[in-house]
Amino acid sequence: MMEGLSEKSRTVFFLSSEATPFAKTGGLADVAGSLPDALRRQGVDVRVGLPFYRVTRKGGFSTRPLYSDLEVPLGSELLKGHVIETHTKEGVPVYLFEREDLFDRPNLYATSEGDYYDNLERFAYFSRAALIFAKLIGIPFDVIHCHDWQTGLVPAYLKTIYLDDPFFAKTASLFTIHNLGYQGLFSKEKLAVCSLPPDVFHLEGVEYWGRISLLKAGVIYADALTTVSPAYAKEIQTPEFGFGMEGILKKRSANLYGILNGTDYSVWSPEKDPELPYPYDLSNLREKARNKKALLNELRLAEALENKPLFGMISRLSAQKGCDLLVKVMDELVHLGAGVVILGAGEQEYQSLLEKAAGNRPDRVAIRIGFNESLAHRIIAGADMLLMPSRYEPCGLTQMYALRYGTVPVVRATGGLDDTIVQFDPESKQGNGFKFSPHSPEALMEALKKALRIYREPATWEVLITNGMKEDFSWERSAQRYVDLYKTISLTPKSNFLQ
Ligand code: ADP
Repeated sequence: MMEGLSEKSRTVFFLSSEATPFAKTGGLADVAGSLPDALRRQGVDVRVGLPFYRVTRKGGFSTRPLYSDLEVPLGSELLKGHVIETHTKEGVPVYLFEREDLFDRPNLYATSEGDYYDNLERFAYFSRAALIFAKLIGIPFDVIHCHDWQTGLVPAYLKTIYLDDPFFAKTASLFTIHNLGYQGLFSKEKLAVCSLPPDVFHLEGVEYWGRISLLKAGVIYADALTTVSPAYAKEIQTPEFGFGMEGILKKRSANLYGILNGTDYSVWSPEKDPELPYPYDLSNLREKARNKKALLNELRLAEALENKPLFGMISRLSAQKGCDLLVKVMDELVHLGAGVVILGAGEQEYQSLLEKAAGNRPDRVAIRIGFNESLAHRIIAGADMLLMPSRYEPCGLTQMYALRYGTVPVVRATGGLDDTIVQFDPESKQGNGFKFSPHSPEALMEALKKALRIYREPATWEVLITNGMKEDFSWERSAQRYVDLYKTISLTPKSNFLQ
């Protein structure tokens, strides 16, 4: 028998390991930074929980201490921490979980040498602290909405150590998978460190090939699951995209929903983007060309590129993003007269490959390594096309930003890229970009050549740009789907979790 949640109660604790503008490494931050505001606009009483990183402390946000000496048991230790309050742009309360030794570090998860050695302790602390804090403030949230492996322990705690706690008797957990490629893996010896009972370590529990997976903890124990596009929700149930979890995801398919991410147009709109030297919209596209010229100057690329196609790529540098394909077509692209601008941060291997591929053409190819939000905006505005040759892409946000900026996406037809980009048809003049399917340089090159042919016909190109700029991927529709889910989510029967 399922226990349903009441219609009217919709208090939601939204737990994420990053959210703009407080801390960001990728798309999760964009989502966690804008979805809570959209939920609030739809009447949800939502509060956000985040770790208090150094970058957040130094960010100049208006904060106030809320709780000191929060006591969080973790393994055999009792860790004390503080909670600090701030707010989102539209007034959603944000609770920042502070513990200097865990979060006051140069980066969020890793250095260039690799992951922080104590990520399990860090995110177990955050997960447990959030539940203890909920009890302290006396809000038995209807839904605790968790995101990715960093918060995967929350659903597990609710179904183990808190299973019989009357305070959480009506609290459901929703776990959103933003990227199945990051499983949060740790040695099984650490089970006690995160305060999980030994009987959860088995194939239907948190075990993943002999190790603990915090992502799997979320997948197994959450009352419902979502992922960030309808296509990705299907893909992850197959061996090609399932990272070995396709079986359990298939089993949970009745409670697995694909909800496309939205775009925060208050941040990503060319007519009011403070990062652009020349704001523009559909009525003055000539200004887009001035942004291109300024970008070429900024990156010291040849002025002659002004009248040539300019490709941009803004991406984490990882195998997922298809950097290997770009490396293989770079020479040919340059040979065809195009320019390429890459902004990326991540794995050294891909950084070196890209730098090598660009090596001898500094007038045509610019590579900037590092995380640079401001430059990202100028590239999206200044480039003619945006490249996303991803191996897999749960949703992808950059292609949606590009559409709004009149920058044409060239993407691999996978996950959210396939859901949002429609191949342009020069006959009917329908479509908003270019897609290819096989993960091969030949397929990418073929798509690029199609794009270049249209680029050479300015009138048709303008139709294509216009189609993209008119698209609406704002949060409202997707936020409504989350609200519907918050209302209908059912608690998995307790008996499923009793051994
Ligand atoms: P993912 O979450 O897999 O990294 P998304 O396309 O969903 O990919 O989101 C990426 C977000 O991070 C976008 O907002 C993009 O502009 C931004 N981004 C990625 N790399 C960089 C970078 N090096 N500098 C600035 N912004 C970046």
